[in-house]
Amino acid sequence: METKLERIQSDLETLATYTSTPGNGVTRSSYSKEDTLAKEYLIKEMEKIGLHIYEDGFGTLFGRKEGTLKDAPVIMFGSHYDSVVNGGAFDGAAGSVAALEVMRVLKENDFVNDYPLELILMNAEEGATFGPSTGVSNSRAMVGTMTEYELKTVKNRFGQTKLEAMAEYGLVPDLEKAKRKPGSIKNFVELHVEQGPVLAKENVEIGLISYLAGIGRYTFKFFGKTGDSTAPMNSRKDALVATSNFIVKFDEAIKKLGKDVTGMVGKLDIIPNSNQFVPELVEGKIEIRTFSKEITEKVNFKQLIIDLLESVKNQFAIEYDLQEIKRINYPNPTGPSIMCAENVKKMEKICDDLGYSHIIINNGTGHDSMIMTDFTDTNMIYVPSRNNGVSHCPQEWTDYIDIKKGADVLLHLIMDISKK
Ligand SMILES: [Zn+2]
Repeated sequence: METKLERIQSDLETLATYTSTPGNGVTRSSYSKEDTLAKEYLIKEMEKIGLHIYEDGFGTLFGRKEGTLKDAPVIMFGSHYDSVVNGGAFDGAAGSVAALEVMRVLKENDFVNDYPLELILMNAEEGATFGPSTGVSNSRAMVGTMTEYELKTVKNRFGQTKLEAMAEYGLVPDLEKAKRKPGSIKNFVELHVEQGPVLAKENVEIGLISYLAGIGRYTFKFFGKTGDSTAPMNSRKDALVATSNFIVKFDEAIKKLGKDVTGMVGKLDIIPNSNQFVPELVEGKIEIRTFSKEITEKVNFKQLIIDLLESVKNQFAIEYDLQEIKRINYPNPTGPSIMCAENVKKMEKICDDLGYSHIIINNGTGHDSMIMTDFTDTNMIYVPSRNNGVSHCPQEWTDYIDIKKGADVLLHLIMDISKK
């Protein structure tokens, strides 16, 4: 059995027409008119193959194929079909279409699965739509960490809260109903474009993920005092000197923690940012990545940062402020998302059998799969991103044949794990 390239291409080209910015990339925001159009198309395609179609309490779309086992946990596979503003046609759409095509192939070959299969098509993955840490919403609703508070507070570029945008879309969310019982999902599998240059550069067809790093983000500020370039040195409160000191201390502290964590200050905004004036205010952004669960249990990162800020404050008599950028109901930083190792092995074998080259690749940012790893056995398949791996822009590109190959790997994994 294998997936069909022409259908994958046709699905993706059709989905790309559901954009509010024709000619300038794909813009398909959650709960927009384009979201509705894409959903209608996906429903129509699922109807053609006789799937049982339903939406959960959060508006997530599912197409179910029953198995021989009754009341058995479900195998879910799919991705998201929303996009950022002026994004590309591949991001989550590639994985959504690949999963749809896998279902088609299983249906037309009368494949008999023991465990039930569900195609999952998510419409609210992009964090950019409602601001930092508000993405991967459909999966958070399933695992029960989405909150009413978030629905009522975070806003999109039109000033609508999630709840208001949902209402306009015709959805009254029921978070309780959207929650899945622990143990009710046997596997969660997502194909995604790499959104990085590695596969294309190394000329490899399939990327298999064994884990994705956890993430922590903070914003700090140092409040100095304005002064011109003649201000006596001993009278100054230079926010940039304080910041520089903090950066060095933070770098040393993270290095001491060993190889399970990285951290840096990657962005600074300096006011007034002039060679003629003493820096009055500096805002810096801290990015932390974690590679083991132990490191997040062992280290209180917020306290570590506060201790360093305090020591700089005492040294330079400069006040500071610290804000966390985190998801409601999640730690900061999060631990890494560990994928199901047994299925990684299975997919390596599948790739070998199909003659597709493969590597383990552990790069990546936010995906719904990361939310699912603590809930069920989860796996991801990456396919190459062209144009140096750019993503979330009109230049985002993955060759259709590469998506077909990834879909074949997905197909054979689903066939394998759906048997008892
Ligand atoms: Zn995505």
